[in-house]
Amino acid sequence: MGLVVQKYGGSSVADAEGIKRVARRIVDTKKDGHEVVVVVSAMGDTTDELIDLAEQVSPIPAGRELDMLLTAGERISMALLAMAIKSLGHEAQSFTGSQAGVITDSVHNKARIIDVTPGRIRNALDKGNIAIVAGFQGVSQDSKDITTLGRGGSDTTAVALAAALDAEVCEIYTDVDGVFTADPRVVKKARKIDWIAYEDMLELASSGSKVLLHRCVEYARRYNMPIHVRSSFSGHVGTWVSNEKPTKPEGGEMEQAIISGVAHDTSEAKVTVVGVPDKPGEAARIFRAIADSEINIDMVVQNVSAAATGLTDISFTLPMADGHRAIDSLEKAKAVVGFESLRYDDQIAKISLVGAGMRSNPGVTAAFFEALSGAGVNIELISTSEIRISVVTRADDVNEAVRAVHTAFGLDSESDEAVVYGGTGR
Ligand code: ASP
Ligand code: MG
Repeated sequence: MGLVVQKYGGSSVADAEGIKRVARRIVDTKKDGHEVVVVVSAMGDTTDELIDLAEQVSPIPAGRELDMLLTAGERISMALLAMAIKSLGHEAQSFTGSQAGVITDSVHNKARIIDVTPGRIRNALDKGNIAIVAGFQGVSQDSKDITTLGRGGSDTTAVALAAALDAEVCEIYTDVDGVFTADPRVVKKARKIDWIAYEDMLELASSGSKVLLHRCVEYARRYNMPIHVRSSFSGHVGTWVSNEKPTKPEGGEMEQAIISGVAHDTSEAKVTVVGVPDKPGEAARIFRAIADSEINIDMVVQNVSAAATGLTDISFTLPMADGHRAIDSLEKAKAVVGFESLRYDDQIAKISLVGAGMRSNPGVTAAFFEALSGAGVNIELISTSEIRISVVTRADDVNEAVRAVHTAFGLDSESDEAVVYGGTGR
């Protein structure tokens, strides 16, 4: 039996009871004969609370100090978890990200892992111990300062350690039973996916599905590390995310669905640049201004210009959090770019249908739009990739639209199996 990396999220270790429950599960895995490395998040909403606290003492907290503060959250849970395991009669040692060899670049609050040197973890395992590692943090190679990987970064820590230690699997324990065909908080009849390819999971993650972060899946794909997403509250088998279809326990391959799922995202806003002269270089100047402010954009749509005026409109979506900066930088560039006005709209939602089977199945786009029209939902923007169709709608319509599309593609399960075990969804 090989090495297993298990990651437990904040809702799984929200209180002392949760920590003891997780400790028992870890000990059971160890008793099954595995070497066990555990990555843990901060308890419950600790990270949010620490950020609130920081903002109370400083409007824009210094990046280095914010990282020092936030990493304390994971330190608390790692130490408590190690104590709980010891009191069950098993040896456990906790390690900060830095002690575990998680080396990052020096970008505070959103550092990237550049290397993992888990020598101390390997030693702990060789002594027969369980190793507990604080998620979401590392140490900068250059500045030697403590860094964090960005919100939700513990999953990436887990996958990175699993890859560096050549683990059999990286198990991500969360408050739902796996990856669902839609957000189970919105669609009661969402179905648990047994297996999903990295490719589809990446599209779901970048379309707003929150169960796994894009960066974590990207890392797993790069190292071909299988992820098993499952609940720490139930004993159920979850969702396998990997390259190759696993074989079923009873023999035969798992089936790949045409459509993997419906994702939605209400965190974006739409900017419309009105009255742009329809001539070469205009779009370039607009998006240069946005890029120079380090803002990532998502969908872009340019209208056909009106023959009479020679003017066109360009709309794009971007994270709501960057909205005001984008407007500022466009206002500044107005004289050079030449446009009439700007419109800003944060009451939008993006709904995406994802599935590799789309490539070879005609009619998916038509059926998607029919489902939306049946639900009386108006489409404002459309964009597609090979395996995804996304639309922008009014934010108010999002839940109804997701449910309608989910039903139209036959994704509804017969039973209400989508249970949300914990978490405040904060
Ligand atoms: N505690 C951090 C957060 O809430 C990291 C994580 O949970 O993965 O973002
Ligand atoms: Mg968290």
